[in-house]
Amino acid sequence: MTPDPWDAEAQRLDAADPLHGFRDRFVGSETPLVYFDGNSLGRPPKATVDRLPAFVAEQWGGRLIRGWDESWMSLPFEIGDEIGRSVIGAAPGQTVVGDSTTVLLYKLLRAAFDARHAEDPARVEIVVDRDNFPTDRYLVEGIAAERGGRVRWIDVDLSAGVTADGLAAAVGPETAVVLLSQVAYRSGFLADTATLTRIAHDAGALTVWDLCHSAGSVPVALDEWGVDLAVGCTYKYLNGGPGSPAFAYVAGRLQASLAQPIQGWMGAADVFSMGPVYAPADGMRRFLSGTPPIIGMLAMQDTLAMIADAGIEAIRAKSTALTEFAVRLSDELLAPLGVAVASPRDPAFRGGHVTLSHPSMREVTARLWEHDVIPDYRDPGGLRIGLSPLSTSFAEVVDGMRAVERAVRGLSGT
Ligand SMILES: *Cc1c(COP(=O)(O)O)cnc(C)c1O
Repeated sequence: MTPDPWDAEAQRLDAADPLHGFRDRFVGSETPLVYFDGNSLGRPPKATVDRLPAFVAEQWGGRLIRGWDESWMSLPFEIGDEIGRSVIGAAPGQTVVGDSTTVLLYKLLRAAFDARHAEDPARVEIVVDRDNFPTDRYLVEGIAAERGGRVRWIDVDLSAGVTADGLAAAVGPETAVVLLSQVAYRSGFLADTATLTRIAHDAGALTVWDLCHSAGSVPVALDEWGVDLAVGCTYKYLNGGPGSPAFAYVAGRLQASLAQPIQGWMGAADVFSMGPVYAPADGMRRFLSGTPPIIGMLAMQDTLAMIADAGIEAIRAKSTALTEFAVRLSDELLAPLGVAVASPRDPAFRGGHVTLSHPSMREVTARLWEHDVIPDYRDPGGLRIGLSPLSTSFAEVVDGMRAVERAVRGLSGT
């Protein structure tokens, strides 16, 4: 029997894929389960299976409180610098691993708003798009209320994202800070970060970039693009595990002029002097608040090593090939069933996932999960196909897309 042409093509693409070998380094990659949600929670690296118990036995168990002096105090900065180098294009001393994404975004957004507003009291607006991730929108509303500011909303096409024209129309002499996502969580739209940052700067505003859906799948060059501040997740494409702490980037030129609102002892100039009043540390330490979650920082180190090894450009090339393949499969297998691609078709404007829309997608997702095919669902009617480049094979994409086809057919009675 001759193989199905899609299987044959997947085989050819996997054989030619220079990153194919990385897949074996993830837990579960040898099973038939199809994982389309590495953009929400990455698979664990196999190296992590040994790293965690070794830490408990040797570091925590053996070094006990001495571990803080010996290595843990500097770990948030060391891993931050590694993220800077391999993932986000940041020179050392500008990135730290700390709290959750939400808390770090709050700290940086408020610091940026306060700094700009203090310099120029006319600057009272925080600009954000209506389709940004909920936490981003909620934070902006909260900070505006807390600081006597205003939210300036940008309307966007749900299958796309914030464009240069859209941002240019929203910023002006009243803008303090602009908060945008590099890759839109719903559509996968990849924003032109350099251009949008320039537009915000020309209007006199600071920028905060949310890198949750881009860090580890899309090349990022924060220093080169002149970005001011950024925050990103580590449990998505950096495989840090559920709830692993986020990272924050603050451009060196701004660090001394920003004051973050959660003044804790770990951000103080001399942590163990236990002094009577808070004085912020120099550099990135001032953006920490309390004791860093060291155990949560263990797993991401295994993926950071793989990213350094593979190179983010090669990762992006594979990511583009995977999403392109998924779009072609969707056009052939699913478009006849009424499924539409709700992501940019031009890969230059698309991150690492593809969203497919159809009224039955909520039920489709539930049915797929029962059969070990795991995408996720986002309203309205969007099935997100997340294709984590290091752990996903082209054969997996074909298997998963066929399962989507069966589920849509089954639920729509065709
Ligand atoms: C996943 C995600 C978050 C998550 O924030 P947490 O504080 O980690 O829950 C925030 N922003 C975006 C754009 C995301 O995709």
